[in-house]
Amino acid sequence: MTEWNKLIPKPRSKFWRVRCLKCNNEQIIFSNVTNKINCNVCGETLAEPTGGRAKIKAEIVAVLD
Ligand SMILES: [Zn+2]
Repeated sequence: MTEWNKLIPKPRSKFWRVRCLKCNNEQIIFSNVTNKINCNVCGETLAEPTGGRAKIKAEIVAVLD
């Protein structure tokens, strides 16, 4: 545990590792996205903001705390 960790509030948000359905590229996204997230490889939309929890259009491979 570092000082830095203590200063960060802990919302219920998480990081998700998702896999692009189109090209199978895996990347990590924040569960509360504020902008549309595109695949780094093929540009396919992976997640869209909905005002709260992101709408995920990719396969969620893992949830990271
Ligand atoms: Zn892709």
